[in-house]
Amino acid sequence: MNQLRVFKELYYESPLTKKELAETTDLSTPTVAKALSGLISRELVNEKGRRDIPTGRKPITYGLNNTSIYGLGVDLEIPDLRIALYDLSRRKIASKGTYVDLDDLQERPVPHLTDKLNHELQGLIYHEGLDESSIVGAGIAASGVVQEGSFRPFSRFESPSDIELKGPLEDKLGFPTSFGNDVDLQLLSELDRLGPIEDPGHVALYFSARLSGKRQPTVRIGGSIAIGGELFLGGEGSAGEFGHMSISSAGNSRTPETKCGNTNCLESFVNDELSDSDGFAVPKSVVDAIQQNIKDLVFAFSPSLIIVDLDAFPEITGQVMEELEVFTDGLKETMGLDKVEIREPLDKDRSVTRGAVINYFNKSLLDPKEFSTLMRS
Ligand SMILES: [Zn+2]
Repeated sequence: MNQLRVFKELYYESPLTKKELAETTDLSTPTVAKALSGLISRELVNEKGRRDIPTGRKPITYGLNNTSIYGLGVDLEIPDLRIALYDLSRRKIASKGTYVDLDDLQERPVPHLTDKLNHELQGLIYHEGLDESSIVGAGIAASGVVQEGSFRPFSRFESPSDIELKGPLEDKLGFPTSFGNDVDLQLLSELDRLGPIEDPGHVALYFSARLSGKRQPTVRIGGSIAIGGELFLGGEGSAGEFGHMSISSAGNSRTPETKCGNTNCLESFVNDELSDSDGFAVPKSVVDAIQQNIKDLVFAFSPSLIIVDLDAFPEITGQVMEELEVFTDGLKETMGLDKVEIREPLDKDRSVTRGAVINYFNKSLLDPKEFSTLMRS
């Protein structure tokens, strides 16, 4: 277990010296040294040179071994398919984008996806000159409700049945996988950049509006919630669907049809307004509705961090964030609310694949049981 404690420190911050590790883990220096030698022989950690200090012997620093094992991240934004390999430091080392054949997918979804993913992965491994056994597992991202490795390949409310991908995919690829919702995984990637969150009451919200589909693009509005650094998924994994909360009906004469079952939901409203606009500027009604939705979330969750990802409307991002700043600043006086950090995602390429790999690492490398299995293998 001491090995996991030392590994976790280095996972979030490296390089560190033995002395620094002893301080942050509350372990003795000999215990740290013993843990390090185990981690080094398993090739999870290596020496990173010496720390430059003004006087005395410069101590050796240690960090993650970034050439020993890799995780595969997969983003199933059907029909788009993106795969990427990440090292232990969660840095992307290679990626590939392609698309799936919708007719094939409809007819035989599981074999089509497993064959396609395996083919793309083999290409990436060959291209990068990697050893196949260095890929230890995969994180898979899909939209909608994703549970136990099954998901609905089209939009959440359009395809009647889930497909079970986990078992067949693990058989084909030969390593374990973990599945998650794409917006949840984006939030996970952002949280990873913040480092471990100690405050159990820390609430982070991710609000996302993305375009999906090529011929008839629609705006998909999604969200995700993390409490104390852990994703809050709700009972059935569907928590955080901010886009299906209804918007205020006062002043709106139109109530578009919804597929989700909630009258006048934000996502339907936004797409309805857009289909009716000239297509040049984002209608004010859309900006207002999005702004209002995020404001309501502030009252519902009292967040410390709100990440605003308006990939579908980059031109209104500044405006929405400014108004939110003013709004949350005002709440300091009325509600005694702490300063709310409002920002855009740090992952500029909106790498869902990165979050997917982090999801896998969290459940394997950072899990006590899985970690000891890995150390013994
Ligand atoms: Zn809806």
